[in-house]
Amino acid sequence: MARIFIFSGPSGAGKSTIISELKQRLPNLWFSVSCTTRKPRDGEENGTDYHFITQAEFDEMINADGFLEYDPHLGASYGTPAKPLEKALADGFDAILDIETTGAANVLKKIPEAVTVFIWPGSFELLEERLRGREGNKMSEEQIASRLEKARKELDEIGFYRYTVINNILDRAVAECEAIIREERLK
Ligand code: 5GP
Repeated sequence: MARIFIFSGPSGAGKSTIISELKQRLPNLWFSVSCTTRKPRDGEENGTDYHFITQAEFDEMINADGFLEYDPHLGASYGTPAKPLEKALADGFDAILDIETTGAANVLKKIPEAVTVFIWPGSFELLEERLRGREGNKMSEEQIASRLEKARKELDEIGFYRYTVINNILDRAVAECEAIIREERLK
């Protein structure tokens, strides 16, 4: 039976890097490409990292009941398209969703058996360093501050997650996430 893995954790925790490593190490993993109204960062590709769409297109998707979940945060709208996920699961793939804590709670209401993993960077200092050092990313002080504030709120939700992975050493974090997926696949 195909599974859903929800990866949450603050923007800057390293979720995307971990997920792209996992896709290389494990067969049959499918990444859910979210829709967002935020602007692409340098190096991000439309259709691969996100579907970058307008607010009007996003609203159309909502009206057409096209999202499994959606949530406005950090000054933009983000949502998980339902159809591609259903197809991937029907085709026998395990799906990975990279979504924040509100979205994760909404998915769990619909799909309680989804496996939740919280990725935490280790400390707020490390998180701030990563947000500031992000390649191709010229975040304003305000954007950094809002991400740190959201991170504090998200950390309050850590207890609701089935697994926690600390990403202060990338290789170890990837190995732990790989172990989680392998273990869940054996159940
Ligand atoms: P970023 O703008 O840094 O790519 O992502 C900001 C936050 O939005 C991250 O915590 C990420 O997990 C979350 N996010 C990305 N896609 C979705 C989505 O489809 N739904 C929800 N609820 N959150 C998302």
